[in-house]
Amino acid sequence: MDKILFSQEVPVMDKVDVLVVGGGPAGIAASVAAARAGMSTRLVDNNGYLGGMATAGLVGPFMTSFSPDGSRQIVKGIFDELLLRMIDHGGAIHPSQCKPGTSYSSYIGRGHGNVSPFNSEAFKVDAEALCLNAGVKLLYHVFFVKALVSEDGDSITGAVFATKAGLQVIQAKIFIDCTGDGDLAASAGVVMKQGRDEDGLTQPATLFFRISGIDKQKLERHRLEHPEPDAKQFNTEVEYARSQGDFPIEREKLGMYESCDGTWRVNTTRIIHLDATDPAAVTAAEIEGRKQIQTVMSFLHKYIPGAENACLIESASVLGVRESRRIIGEYVLTAEDILSSRKFEDSIGLYGFPIDIHQPDGKSGVFMQFKEPYSIPYRILLPKQRGKNLLVAGRCVSATHDALGSVRIMPACFVTGQAAGTAAALALQEGISPKQLAYKKLEKKLLKNGALLTW
Ligand SMILES: Cc1cc2nc3c(=O)[nH]c(=O)nc-3n(C[C@H](O)[C@H](O)[C@H](O)COP(=O)(O)OP(=O)(O)OC[C@H]3O[C@@H](n4cnc5c(N)ncnc54)[C@H](O)[C@@H]3O)c2cc1C
Repeated sequence: MDKILFSQEVPVMDKVDVLVVGGGPAGIAASVAAARAGMSTRLVDNNGYLGGMATAGLVGPFMTSFSPDGSRQIVKGIFDELLLRMIDHGGAIHPSQCKPGTSYSSYIGRGHGNVSPFNSEAFKVDAEALCLNAGVKLLYHVFFVKALVSEDGDSITGAVFATKAGLQVIQAKIFIDCTGDGDLAASAGVVMKQGRDEDGLTQPATLFFRISGIDKQKLERHRLEHPEPDAKQFNTEVEYARSQGDFPIEREKLGMYESCDGTWRVNTTRIIHLDATDPAAVTAAEIEGRKQIQTVMSFLHKYIPGAENACLIESASVLGVRESRRIIGEYVLTAEDILSSRKFEDSIGLYGFPIDIHQPDGKSGVFMQFKEPYSIPYRILLPKQRGKNLLVAGRCVSATHDALGSVRIMPACFVTGQAAGTAAALALQEGISPKQLAYKKLEKKLLKNGALLTW
């Protein structure tokens, strides 16, 4: 690519204590926690609403917020607050009411109990209310493009955004990267990693879509009459359609999750070998995703009893990216930590969803379960090098490709987000960097605010 030099004066549109970039599950929790702790906090997103994958990506349900054995809820705090608020408004179903193997979990049993189906519009409204009530200043339609860094390169001094009003800068004392792709961290010079160690390949992407018009009784009668092994949902129909040339997608099964409003989310399209940080590749993937949706709709009509009259409501407005960049942090969470239900001394929360890896070649998947929750260490939010005044939460935390298969799931993103916002506020109150913060102080504040840290 040719290069040109471009320099200009850029107006400073705001100065805040904490700037959170990215308004998905992690960014919502981070900004609410920081604002509630008295920090002037701004949350910015390139969409015109909050939610990230949960709204723009049409991803759902919230996978489990319970322990792996389903005995009790282990993700509380801001996640639970938003969930209960949505339930109150008829926009979600409580995880205690969602048994494994039901329509809410696409009829998958293992690892898929205690999910929370929700309506994306309810998410937008209730997340916004949660933020505004906490005093978070929202700004939509701004795209982060560049981190301004101090002379020694260690700290971020400002974030440049592309807006309708031209380039603008927001300055902050602490920055929290909740972009999913680690855009801010990467631009600030933090060491990043992408994909598997051996070849850099990432999990495939999926363009979600929503449908209505399913005859659930007929569908479930068909399932009873043609039982399949667990987690092989509709594999027989998919393979038969493939043999007829009607399912050219690199996926073994149909993921079809009933929501709380009688519509269904379909998680079946598959785009492999994508670099989600390359806009041209993402554009091509979205075009391909919409093409695949037409294929899946025809498949539903022809091969799935009960779906003959399925109607496409909408495709997601952004591609569902399971994996892209993540930081190399003070600690790198591993699959062994998760599978051994490790208890960290700097726990910021618990999680219990299995490691779910859709293989980069698209064909197969790995699903690794464990018996007890694992704890999430604070150090995975802290860049190892540079980014002295930066915290990272959500999908771009410091974890291996395998470990990300669990910690990237939405309830866990709320956990890391809440901890990042809380740590930012505590560090600012003491005039220190997030790395210097004594864990005991963070622990005390998180516990006070409803987080569950030990099992
Ligand atoms: C296909 C797929 C299926 C999944 N299935 C489930 C599931 O069933 N249940 C579950 O719980 N989880 C599921 N997940 C995981 C989950 O949805 C994501 O990992 C999670 O939403 C990540 O949260 P986040 O806040 O880190 O990022 P995101 O939800 O991606 O939010 C990031 C936000 O930052 C904004 N942003 C990004 N870059 C910039 C920028 N440069 N400037 C300004 N704004 C920016 C984005 O627009 C977005 O709003 C799935 C994910 C995918 C992709």
